[in-house]
Amino acid sequence: MIELLTRLENTYNGKDYALLKRAYEYARRAHANQKRASGEEYFIHPCTVASILTDLGLDAATVAAAFLHDVIEDTAVSEGDIRKEFGEEVLELVVGVTKLDKIQFHSKEEEQAENFRKIFVAMAKDIRVIIIKLADRLHNMRSLNFLSKERQQRMARETLEIFAPLAHRLGISQIKCELEDLCLKYLEPDFYEYLSTSIEESLKANVEMVDQVVLEVKDILSESKISGDVFGRRKHLYSIYRKMKERNKTLDQIYDLVAIRIIVNTVDECYEVFGKIHHRWKPVPGRIKDYIATPKPNMYRSLHTTVATNFGKVFEIQIRTYEMNHAAEYGIAAHWKYKEKKNIADDLDTRLTWIREVMEWQGGLKDSKEFLNSLKGDIYSSEVLVFTPKGDVISLPKDATPLDFAYSIHSAVGNKCVGAKVNGKMVPLNTVLSVGDVVDIVTSQSSKGPSWDWLKIVKSSSARVKIKQFFKREMKEENVRTGKVMLDAEIKRRGYSMSELLTEDAFMAISAKMSFNGQDEMFASVGYGAVSVNQVVVKLIDYHRKSQPQQEVTKFFKTGKKGDGSVKVKGMAGLLVRFAGCCNPVPGDEIVGFISRGHGVTVHRKDCPNLKHTEDDRIIEVSWAETADSVYNAGIKVTGNTQTEVLTTVASVVAQLKLDIVSTNGRIDPKTNQAIVDFHIRLNGKDELNNLIKKLSQEPKIIDVFRTAN
Ligand code: MN
Repeated sequence: MIELLTRLENTYNGKDYALLKRAYEYARRAHANQKRASGEEYFIHPCTVASILTDLGLDAATVAAAFLHDVIEDTAVSEGDIRKEFGEEVLELVVGVTKLDKIQFHSKEEEQAENFRKIFVAMAKDIRVIIIKLADRLHNMRSLNFLSKERQQRMARETLEIFAPLAHRLGISQIKCELEDLCLKYLEPDFYEYLSTSIEESLKANVEMVDQVVLEVKDILSESKISGDVFGRRKHLYSIYRKMKERNKTLDQIYDLVAIRIIVNTVDECYEVFGKIHHRWKPVPGRIKDYIATPKPNMYRSLHTTVATNFGKVFEIQIRTYEMNHAAEYGIAAHWKYKEKKNIADDLDTRLTWIREVMEWQGGLKDSKEFLNSLKGDIYSSEVLVFTPKGDVISLPKDATPLDFAYSIHSAVGNKCVGAKVNGKMVPLNTVLSVGDVVDIVTSQSSKGPSWDWLKIVKSSSARVKIKQFFKREMKEENVRTGKVMLDAEIKRRGYSMSELLTEDAFMAISAKMSFNGQDEMFASVGYGAVSVNQVVVKLIDYHRKSQPQQEVTKFFKTGKKGDGSVKVKGMAGLLVRFAGCCNPVPGDEIVGFISRGHGVTVHRKDCPNLKHTEDDRIIEVSWAETADSVYNAGIKVTGNTQTEVLTTVASVVAQLKLDIVSTNGRIDPKTNQAIVDFHIRLNGKDELNNLIKKLSQEPKIIDVFRTAN
């Protein structure tokens, strides 16, 4: 590890080196006594990661963070400790890597892998966090042989699906190629073995030829007075493997097992050498590629051609500048080597601008758009990607809550939801989720289901629909029952009965306005509070009034009798007066007049329930005449032990008072088993009525007596 310190000292300035040396010592103390699966000192791991990043040319803060990247997770060191020792920038990088470590990836279909990559990029607030993570993964892949076969496979698949594509997208081909080859080694060990031995053999067999071609190219360069480097380079195994698989070819059919790479100083020199190579050897048609004019999406630039040499052997030749070569190897990391270091702000916009600049500088703005969009789109879009405890990715609308998550899993999970954990901690159900959160829903079978407040909490329309469905469907019976009781109570409170108001016609009329699909739905809506009970009752009464006045009048006439001058109507002499059959007023009762259409005035008792909801302008004041000698019918209700006792007692009292019984109607009260008999008595006024009631109430066989409403 001493070599590493020397290398750091040679690479970074004094101040940076001091920081790195402190980080080195700090990590060594923190990881003391920890071992890796290989049995080595754990400290080897952060050192190797730091070393890889130094090779890539990353800045000192990144390399310092590499030394420290595992201390928060694996040792007693806290975030506060790192901040105190190394400042905010290093802390942010370490925390970023720690956060990414917690994500559990699963081998899934391509779409899932793409989601994971998105989350990765979105969660890493700083692109350097991803680069550290890539270096970390590279070293872990290098030491994979110490793990169980199962873990090897899982890690290799994950690397192939997530990390290698990320390295590729960031243009860091050095890491990408090594990762892919390592994956191949663990995923297809036999094929890997076959490829590496046969390529090794083919290289050995062709080594003279390769040397010969390299020599000839060097001659071409010196003839043209161009300085540069020329060397033979084995293509990486995974790319050969993929070519064979995808194009269904044998190893012999692959030309470019070895490529000759020519590195020069300027773009002009690239094209000049390119022309001279084609002058010297015949190019294979269809194999000439100008990635300088048209860079690859990840900014790769180079000229490629395949030529047939005089030995009849076919070689791929790559021509590029030193700058292009560095960019191809290090991708986005090359920024630190070739450009003056900038302030790398945490601010997202600045970060994106910075990436854009790097892309532009590498010459491929057009093709980098896709990359930028996937980066930017994900962070700014209306989507937030979160994880299930099993590691599946769920896409939710922006500002979504655990309830949206629960309903996106299944409506049953939502309906039984009683709590939620985000990243292992219990949180309120209205917590806004952020990208990468692991969400765990706590359900309970005894949960009664969603509450109405949830509709204010959820952000996704699908969750909203599911909650409403629950109220509509699952709670229906209970809601219908509750709603019916509520409606009945309110209707009675207003002096009506349900059967009177809720006729088929009345229901049709109000459901046209409130669109109920059947009476049960109306009850249910009242029951769960979607519609207030008053809304419904007011509409029912309204309908009742509009449709009923004629009937009311008829009803009054049916049992009423013509007035005979015993009632005076204030200020309207000679008006036709009838007594209402519904309440049978007698002289002495407080009375009012009701102006019926075309039938004069009907006289009611002032407390007649039928008048409660009539329009005030149809009520007029009336009073009894001074001398009232007409006869009237009054209703009384008498309770006794048996009907016979009641009838004989009432008959004898009525006879004593010289009154007449007009009608009787008796029944047994099932609750008390007492006899209740209604009488209509013909009498001359209130005094006689009061006297009758008084006499009856004094009779020992009469339990109760009172005047009825009619
Ligand atoms: Mn690590």
